Amino acid sequence: MNRSISKRLYEEARTLMPGGVNSPVRSGRAVGVEPLFIQKAGGCRITDEDGNVYIDYVGSWGPLILGHSNPEVVAAVAAVLERGTSYGIPTRIEIEMARKVVEMVPSIEMVRMVNSGTEAAMSAVRLARGYTGRKKIIKFDGCYHGHADSLLVKSGSGLVTFGIPGTPGVPDEIVKHTLSLPYNDLESVRRAMKEVGDEVAAIIVEPVAANMGVVAPAPGYLEGLRQTCTEYGALLIFDEVITGFRLGPGGAQEYFGITPDLTCLGKIIGGGLPVGAYGGKKEIMEHVAPVGNVYQAGTLSGNPLAMAAGLAMLNALGRGGIYEQIEKNNAYLCEGLRMAAVSAGVSVTLNRIGSLGCGFFTPGPVTDLESAAKSDTKAYALFFREMLDRGVYFAPSQFEAFFVGAAHQREDLDLTIQAAHEALRVVGQKCSPQS
Ligand SMILES: *Cc1c(COP(=O)(O)O)cnc(C)c1O
Repeated sequence: MNRSISKRLYEEARTLMPGGVNSPVRSGRAVGVEPLFIQKAGGCRITDEDGNVYIDYVGSWGPLILGHSNPEVVAAVAAVLERGTSYGIPTRIEIEMARKVVEMVPSIEMVRMVNSGTEAAMSAVRLARGYTGRKKIIKFDGCYHGHADSLLVKSGSGLVTFGIPGTPGVPDEIVKHTLSLPYNDLESVRRAMKEVGDEVAAIIVEPVAANMGVVAPAPGYLEGLRQTCTEYGALLIFDEVITGFRLGPGGAQEYFGITPDLTCLGKIIGGGLPVGAYGGKKEIMEHVAPVGNVYQAGTLSGNPLAMAAGLAMLNALGRGGIYEQIEKNNAYLCEGLRMAAVSAGVSVTLNRIGSLGCGFFTPGPVTDLESAAKSDTKAYALFFREMLDRGVYFAPSQFEAFFVGAAHQREDLDLTIQAAHEALRVVGQKCSPQS
């Protein structure tokens, strides 16, 4: 496959942007490739600048559950574009969007729109601290909540991919109030809460961890977090930036039947434009300015273009029907990948929930960051490259999910599985088998 134009663009990009990219994992460093430069996309396919076409399982890292260039989303954006791009003054569509979010997400009575998942998580933590008057927060190893200072502790893919535990630029004084505990280990939470529970403002969790690959919560885990938060008067924050509108119309909280106090949203909610949101009980949300005194603001927040894209997306998802199909398709894909690994003699653990999946190159099981980190990242890198050469684009890191969407048809999945048989055979030959 000729990628000479991408190569040239990458050389140019590197002189102008750190690593040639605007976000680290997409650089391809972890899998030993140079990034593709994309010129267009439609349905489940992306086309690079050299004209190569790939079946895409990244979907802009989650938002594009209906596929690229979804006609409804594109038409909605085009319709508002003619009337201006942003006013910084209230608009009708913000009410429609808020109503839609409140209707769809069980625990949200009131919502504030922001511009990214990072802002959503950062603001939810600030609100929890302001509301409770407490400083400490508990998060979990391998869970990512965006790149706000106080949340950049053992935080999943971006850092794990590059082997960075924390990051320079975040002073100890700031993260000393952040406690990071192993995911899926309720006992460690109970122990910590026994010690410092009355200083804890919030426990923030990805209800399905999807930034260390994909790790589902153990039975009783989320219930246990809910219970211990209630017991100690701490808020439970579900970071549903990935799971929101992905595991179902009401996200993970509906899927598992757990009610968090605050919810962070991002990715799908913007329909491919930069949007995030946080919401929860009215009583808590009314502590946000201008009603309350917890300050949080945004020049472009709720801007009509982003709202139009997001609302079109949520309207389409709210009509239902797609979740069963994409879950079934993901099961089909995962079983096909599993069989391909078995027949190539490569140890791969397929974790799957809803339309999220991840193939860890380890015998497994993978239940937390420690077990995820046992994966053979060199084997994954080779798998990634072999798949790329066969026209399939998985995430350029072992520690990211793949996303099955409504645009993936059975024949796309079959092409992917066929490519995986060949790719894994190469991996089996070149990478020494694990114990
Ligand atoms: C992607 C992600 C974020 C950060 O969202 P950005 O829009 O990249 O700032 C936060 N939390 C989770 C769970 C995410 O997956």
